[in-house]
Amino acid sequence: FDEVMNYDPEIAEAMQDELTRQRSHLELIASENLVSKAVMAAMGSILTNKYAEGYPGKRYYGGCEYVDVVEDLARERAKKLFGCEYVNVQPHSGAQANMAVQFAILKPGDTMMGMNLAHGGHLTHGSPANMSGAYFNIVPYGVNDDGVIDYEEVRRIAHECRPKLIVAGASAYAREINFKVFREIADEVGAYLMVDMAHIAGLVAAGLHMSPIPYAHVTTTTTHKTLRGPRGGMILSSNEMQEKFNFNKAIFPGIQGGPLMHVIAAKAVCFKEALDPSFKTYMAQTKTNAAKLACELQKRGFDIVSGGTDNHLMLVDLRPVGVTGKAAEKLLDAANITCNKNAIPNDPEKPFVTSGIRLGTPAVTSRGLVEADMEIIAEAIRLVITQDEANTAKAKAMVKELTDRYPLY
Ligand code: PLP
Repeated sequence: FDEVMNYDPEIAEAMQDELTRQRSHLELIASENLVSKAVMAAMGSILTNKYAEGYPGKRYYGGCEYVDVVEDLARERAKKLFGCEYVNVQPHSGAQANMAVQFAILKPGDTMMGMNLAHGGHLTHGSPANMSGAYFNIVPYGVNDDGVIDYEEVRRIAHECRPKLIVAGASAYAREINFKVFREIADEVGAYLMVDMAHIAGLVAAGLHMSPIPYAHVTTTTTHKTLRGPRGGMILSSNEMQEKFNFNKAIFPGIQGGPLMHVIAAKAVCFKEALDPSFKTYMAQTKTNAAKLACELQKRGFDIVSGGTDNHLMLVDLRPVGVTGKAAEKLLDAANITCNKNAIPNDPEKPFVTSGIRLGTPAVTSRGLVEADMEIIAEAIRLVITQDEANTAKAKAMVKELTDRYPLY
């Protein structure tokens, strides 16, 4: 940091402000986390200097003997962590991992089923605004009136549209996803199953969510959400599927150039951390905290979509308390609570307004918060939503007490 300060005070100042913000705010964005200093150090290292197009042992550049060690370690650790035969750690992001897999399996115009963005799916699962929606014939599926995936409806749609690829996985879905049933449906219609486990990868690694590895033909993930690594993506599958579809080729030279070796090193560090028994404790606490927060919010009159959570996040339907998602996000920010507005299933509001917020506990749990603290957070949220200035001030003081009690970095 001092080096940045000496050379580029404008950037250093923004970095310092961001550190202050992270320290003083409660981070409830479900897709964010707080990485270890070891992960950060690997990312901010001399490895960024190296070009290494290709794969270990088969590079298009000289001088790759040490970055080969880094990438091999990352791959071996990821295989051990998730119990799979093949892994590619080069995707720069989750979106790129998904694009590569779709590029490898599908031809433009082929039919793909994915979870509707408005029901909790991700843009890359077939949104018209994304390349996946522009290149492929998308048939979406969603959740039922209870806010849960109706597998019989997924089956019906699959039999009707006969997709080549079914994508399971979500960005705002609080219930366990049954990958076994998804695979049965895929087999019935002769489709391939791709699971995007980005949100739940940490829970899967810790054995706290059904693993997609035995069921999916191919699995993608990000490394920076519950897994608590650097920003990036990854593809996992069997050797057989790699031979058939060549995901390696789809990443490079398909959609990417040189891998980010500093980020791959940080991924390797993250996998080492996730293999440690302490990671399981962390993930279990994250899940316990989410369940407690959902319960405490319900006690205070908030409606949780699907009635609760099985993972690290929840979707709060704000209609009963009479504020929009957009307004709630702003109100909470005033009390130093960070979250994101999020559409609820069949949301009457526009996507930039929404009727809900998505809350997650990975970051606050990394900080050390436990169940008793979730009660304080729920109460602070209740106070803020009253839109009363004195209540907001009270909530802000409660947040300060928590952020002081659990210092960051
Ligand atoms: N897949 C899912 C399920 C996600 O929730 C996200 C990000 O929120 C992504 C993929 C995309 O990851 P990235 O932002 O790294 O491209």
